[in-house]
Amino acid sequence: MATEIIMPKLGVDMQEGQIIEWKKKEGDEVKEGEILLEIMSDKTNMELEAEATGTLIKILKKDGETVPVTEVIGYIGKKGEVVGEETKPTEVKEEEKEEKTEKNAKDYDIIVIGGGPAGYYCAIRAAQLGARALVIEKIEVGGTCLNRGCIPTKTYLKNAEIIENIQHAKKRGIILKDEKYTVDMDKTVDVKNNVVKTLTNGIKGLFRSYGIDCIHGVGKVLNDKTVVVDDKKFTADKIVIATGSKVSKINIPGIESKLVLTSDDILELRQVPESLGIIGGGVVGVELAQAFNSFGSNVTIIEMSDRVVPSCDEEVSQVLRKSLESKGIKILTSSKLNSIEEKEGRLTLKLEGKEDVVVDKALLSIGRVPELEGTEDLGLTLERGRIKVDEYMQTNIEGVYAPGDVNGIKMLAHAAFRMGELVAENAIKGNHRKVKLASTPAAVYTMPEIGMVGLTETKAREKYDISVGKFNFAGNGRAIASDETAGFVKVIADKKYGEILGVHIIGPAAAEIINEAATLMEMEITVDEVAKTIHGHPTFSEALYEACLDVLGEAIHLPKKINK
Ligand code: FAD
Repeated sequence: MATEIIMPKLGVDMQEGQIIEWKKKEGDEVKEGEILLEIMSDKTNMELEAEATGTLIKILKKDGETVPVTEVIGYIGKKGEVVGEETKPTEVKEEEKEEKTEKNAKDYDIIVIGGGPAGYYCAIRAAQLGARALVIEKIEVGGTCLNRGCIPTKTYLKNAEIIENIQHAKKRGIILKDEKYTVDMDKTVDVKNNVVKTLTNGIKGLFRSYGIDCIHGVGKVLNDKTVVVDDKKFTADKIVIATGSKVSKINIPGIESKLVLTSDDILELRQVPESLGIIGGGVVGVELAQAFNSFGSNVTIIEMSDRVVPSCDEEVSQVLRKSLESKGIKILTSSKLNSIEEKEGRLTLKLEGKEDVVVDKALLSIGRVPELEGTEDLGLTLERGRIKVDEYMQTNIEGVYAPGDVNGIKMLAHAAFRMGELVAENAIKGNHRKVKLASTPAAVYTMPEIGMVGLTETKAREKYDISVGKFNFAGNGRAIASDETAGFVKVIADKKYGEILGVHIIGPAAAEIINEAATLMEMEITVDEVAKTIHGHPTFSEALYEACLDVLGEAIHLPKKINK
């Protein structure tokens, strides 16, 4: 399908633009990113780059013509491809009629296997585009995120925050008569289950409102693309494998002990373990360490790498470690677990070259792997256990797509949302939207929180000449008023153009502020453009603004810099 070249809108006031000069002519080969033409608005001139690689098959508007914004001015496609007026349907030909009848004979336009973030988002977007959609879900809609992941953990972490606030109250002049507290895990689990139910019922309601069918069961896709659930068969033009992921296991002696829990199990515990060993100090590991530490467990994190949450910027990881340790969490980095021994209802975690760690229970949180159940007969190409997809999220089989955790590209719920949406559009309207996930933010909901997007400082230095701006929350009015001054915002920008390459935050509201940073990056807004914006005062997000100013050496609430 040809890619449209449109007259861009270069500013809110721009209504039309003039084509100054096409730099290519019809029939020329063009590469993505290559300059195609020069345009002019009432404010500026700009060179327009090709958004796809191919042949410039049609120029609709010539040099000198003035064109309203968003109007199509040309097409890039395959050599010989026909576009524009010629593609407008006139009358349906006999063979097309036959094709249409066969199409309608299928039970659905799209079948989605898995009702998690990728699957439910895909089904709803497909229905918005007019498709008849079926979702097959083996456990409960909402998937890992709503039932066993993002939402349950954040419900527990809210309790942890309340506990921290109770502990903190006295320091701020709030005298509680009895500062002792206990955690009722039955009630805690019930609250979590109610939150989950509210959200999963919400998804079911959305399905009903969009006329999406949803059936319970394991979906199995046969090699003719028929989908089987128990003894029922369903057909569709497009199949979406959104089966997500499951807990990754390690093959060491003792791992099968019932006292070794997964993140699914720990969220169902009705008693707080006196001591808890956390195997893996990644995002899930540190979040659950924080929660169970505040519930009263003695927590030890065992992490193979030299720092916790190794995906974070190094400085962020250091501040996090300090904060977790200050709360009494023991952290063993560069530590390899060799085996586990269960004795008299307790576990001994045997580490290579280090002292044993003895705990009541252990959490295995070393990552997740794609769930491929039901796809075995399809002949999908895999890459390190993940379903291989192209930039349209299509697998090696035409008409079969695989968004979300199952392709392992970015195992986050909001990345799954985007992939699901994109798949719906490509499946229903033809492959035209390419996946772009570079400015996907990520967050860790510890206290203090972490937010990150783009390159870390180390990675950015490897590739670019960079400037780094940093602003500590210790200089932010709202943070001081809230007594939440630990942490900072770090902005990494390209030295020459000021383009933001990465933002790393540890501190209050980091998971919220990072969305602003991600938007700046997606919109390619430079630090000097951020400097022209106004941030409300007092807000935590002023720290992002000041960090951008610091890239320019112009932060107002930082002392004068020498030699900057
Ligand atoms: P899933 O959510 O795994 O959904 C797949 C669905 O498919 C499941 O419901 C499954 O039952 C179903 N299924 C599988 N096979 C079949 C079959 N053959 N037939 C029928 N149904 C099938 N991400 C964030 O962005 N933020 C967070 O804070 C966050 N916290 C997390 C905390 C934990 C403890 C965990 C484990 C994960 C967390 N994640 C978080 C990751 C997030 O949950 C996933 O990235 C997201 O759920 C992926 O969505 P998905 O639709 O691809 O897969």
